[in-house]
Amino acid sequence: CGIIGVLSDHEAAPILVEALKRLEYRGYDSAGIATINGGALDRRRAVGKLVNLSDLLVHEPLAGKAGIGHTRWATHGAPTIGNAHPHRAGRVAVVHNGIIENFRELRAELAALGVPFTTETDTETVALLTEYHMSQGLGPVEAVFKTLDRLEGAFALAFLFDGEDDLIVAARKGSPLAIGHGDGEMYVGSDAIALAPLTDRITYLEEGDRAVVTRKGVEIRDARGALANRAMRQINIDN
Ligand code: GLU
Repeated sequence: CGIIGVLSDHEAAPILVEALKRLEYRGYDSAGIATINGGALDRRRAVGKLVNLSDLLVHEPLAGKAGIGHTRWATHGAPTIGNAHPHRAGRVAVVHNGIIENFRELRAELAALGVPFTTETDTETVALLTEYHMSQGLGPVEAVFKTLDRLEGAFALAFLFDGEDDLIVAARKGSPLAIGHGDGEMYVGSDAIALAPLTDRITYLEEGDRAVVTRKGVEIRDARGALANRAMRQINIDN
């Protein structure tokens, strides 16, 4: 339901949780974050209010300066820890707003390849398909693009990869997603309100856009893969 991503100079976990708080107004039943710490992907998830995630992070901290976070409003699969985002498959972690309409079909394809499922969500399919593409030799960006070509439905997605401390790949179709520009830092958010304390320089993705985000900036491609020029706006939101 709410998405946040940061490629920061500072510890990501507190920034992610703070941004998720600003997305609480959208409603949610569980929450989670993933970071890259010393190159390694790890995640923490909790059912219920964000305070449960914060408490978990006190006991099991998550270091790292790159991360993604999510507040989930379950559509497919009960609101359990196992179904909470970020979903992980191998090197890939993903957060997702919306619904992947053809997930049963994709699931059947992956099952035929011997890929095991561990959740009841439509979202897990996205992580598994992307990890599968990487196992076939594709780099993270190409793997995500190949996955996106297969997805039907309405979604906003943000991906993080094991071993990649300076990369978030994001995409939108039918669900809003914004890119925030900082100074040597970059952000992804499901709306500008989540990003307001971090930056007032925002680029809204357009329908079908895919964004490759690094700390240096963002490269945006349209649904057909062509480089797209999307305006950066200065927005004014009261903190
Ligand atoms: N369909 C996904 C799920 O149920 C995402 C729901 C959301 O937008 O939070 O896990």
